[in-house]
Amino acid sequence: MTGDSTKLKRNLNDYFRLKKKQLNQYGIPVINLDKFCQNLYCKGYDFYRNENVINSDSSISLVQLSDIMENYNKYLQYAFPEAAHIVPLADCKELGGIYYKRRNEHENGIFLCHNCHKYFDHGNGDWVQTQELKDYHHQHMDDIQSSKIIWTESLV
Ligand SMILES: [Zn+2]
Repeated sequence: MTGDSTKLKRNLNDYFRLKKKQLNQYGIPVINLDKFCQNLYCKGYDFYRNENVINSDSSISLVQLSDIMENYNKYLQYAFPEAAHIVPLADCKELGGIYYKRRNEHENGIFLCHNCHKYFDHGNGDWVQTQELKDYHHQHMDDIQSSKIIWTESLV
């Protein structure tokens, strides 16, 4: 598991280094990329939404994320995220073939803060007992996948 996360993290960082020019258009320095949650719906950014009168269910833009990055010390508690597998490792192993082979490629990864990662990985487990929690988890998964799409489409 540790080996897979390390490889995913390296592949994500390699990918973002290749996209340096595109990232600069949003004011995002490559060196800060693996320091902040890439879930643009992250609840950790609610204080920023409050300060800037952004609806709490809305995603922040890459430019707004760059704004957060510039105030690094203020927002440090949301920093140092983990490389998360979008198609979970267990599923990749079970599916085998191309899923297993490509499990650690950047397309299958996103940097998430500890809270987002934990909920993304375990929120759909058997402990989810209520419809409300299930709905919340599905929303969270949608948010993260939408964020991944926004990142990918913004860096073409
Ligand atoms: Zn987060």
